[in-house]
Amino acid sequence: MATIPKMKMRNCIQCGRVFLSQEREELCSGCKAKFYELEEIVKDYVKEHRGVSMNDVSEATGISKKLIQRMAREGVFADMPMGENFTYPCASCGTPIKTGTYCTSCLTRLRQETKKVAEAMQIRFKEDMPTVKRLDAMAQREFDKEQRDKRMFRVGMKNITRSK
Ligand SMILES: [Zn+2]
Ligand SMILES: [Zn+2]
Repeated sequence: MATIPKMKMRNCIQCGRVFLSQEREELCSGCKAKFYELEEIVKDYVKEHRGVSMNDVSEATGISKKLIQRMAREGVFADMPMGENFTYPCASCGTPIKTGTYCTSCLTRLRQETKKVAEAMQIRFKEDMPTVKRLDAMAQREFDKEQRDKRMFRVGMKNITRSK
């Protein structure tokens, strides 16, 4: 049997049309093709109407709040001065945020969790002796090369001073 790519029926976050989504795509093909156009519409509106909320932008432009949120998470408005009202919920706890995907406290927590995972992987990594040996050999080679370069440099310097 052939492998089936991850496909699922879902509603487009912009037009609501049901479509066959691949790899968790949230937009139907029609809206996906218009994405940059929609992005410009939102940007223009926000530039001309300082201090608007996401709701206002959504109502005025006809672009869904979910799509504007996605733009915000992707950093579309990162270099624009956004008003206090232009907020959307943190993807983890729901606290209103203005940039990125998570609020600062969730980010801190996520970073700590990532660190823990990295540390856990390090432990497994140490147990993987062939890899460690290979890396050691590589480090040794680098060290040797460095020593050789230093030696060459010293020899070179000697030659220069001698030729004077
Ligand atoms: Zn759509
Ligand atoms: Zn949060």
